[in-house]
Amino acid sequence: MAKPHDDYAPLSQFLDAFPDVSGNEVNGLGETTPRPATPFFWHPPSKQSFGDLQDAVLQHHRLSAGVRATYSPKAPRGPRAVEQVQLQVDRDAAAWTADIKTFALENEADLVGIVPMKPEYVYEGYEISEPWLIMIGVAMDHERLNAAPDTLDEPTSAVEVGEQYNRAARVSRNLTNYIMGQGHYAKAYAGPYASALLMIPPAIAAGFGELGKHGSLINRTYGSSFRLSAVVTKMPLLADAPDVFGADDFCASCQVCTKACPPGAISETKQTVRGVEKWYVDFDKCIPYFGEALGCGICIGRCPWSKPGTAPRLAEKMLARRARLADED
Ligand code: SF4
Ligand code: SF4
Repeated sequence: MAKPHDDYAPLSQFLDAFPDVSGNEVNGLGETTPRPATPFFWHPPSKQSFGDLQDAVLQHHRLSAGVRATYSPKAPRGPRAVEQVQLQVDRDAAAWTADIKTFALENEADLVGIVPMKPEYVYEGYEISEPWLIMIGVAMDHERLNAAPDTLDEPTSAVEVGEQYNRAARVSRNLTNYIMGQGHYAKAYAGPYASALLMIPPAIAAGFGELGKHGSLINRTYGSSFRLSAVVTKMPLLADAPDVFGADDFCASCQVCTKACPPGAISETKQTVRGVEKWYVDFDKCIPYFGEALGCGICIGRCPWSKPGTAPRLAEKMLARRARLADED
């Protein structure tokens, strides 16, 4: 069982590795002007402000044999990138869109969505010049996810997270190679480690769902029980639209994740972050517990939308509520 908020004391090695700056400050909490997100962990070619803490967390995770195996170099994360073939296959955007979605769904993806690249999807100091972004989602085994919090001897949730990140990596790498084989440039972005690309904002734009109070996505089929990867490409494609079905309204009157979070990191109210009012998780409170629990998934596991079979019913209910309220206006 999760410990109550006030009882949680972070491991000393995590406190020792904490930088002088607050992660909330780095994230732009309270800033009213939009700006790109600042990288804070290991972002090639250099370690950022929270890089030492990331090292301490990874060192802790390596103490678990189960987690070590999941993230070993032998883990099945898909093929190496192939060369782009010289002869380019020309088709229109609608045909390519249908084609790459079919390819992804037939090669282990559960969700696929497409958005035009925007500067706000890229961390400060980095550049991605490809015009299209293909977002990929893979569903998690909810029972294993919801076994969080993990211990070093029983890392059920962390192993599930790692295995699904590996699956998401396979989808993005296989899809990249497929696109390169058609003579169009593509590059895969796969988790769990931070890279130049922010995953959640483009996933929302691609129709994967709404941002929940726990700071993760809520999807109308899988709730918060899924992981992301992405492919950027120059192939001509058509954009998807955001999917708003009432998860944000639901969060306004739900407290499941705020009560379940052991360090009390989840705010009851939206906050302004880099010029946008949104749900926000306190980085400094979350990250030590997240590290200790091998990548804590308590908030997304306990979220009512994540329970198998529940999200479609809740979405239907919330959409009916929205229609009723619109009629009353
Ligand atoms: S647990 Fe409740 S408040 Fe938290 S994200 Fe899920 S629906 Fe929203
Ligand atoms: S991941 Fe972070 S915000 Fe979510 S329950 Fe764990 S500590 Fe709390």
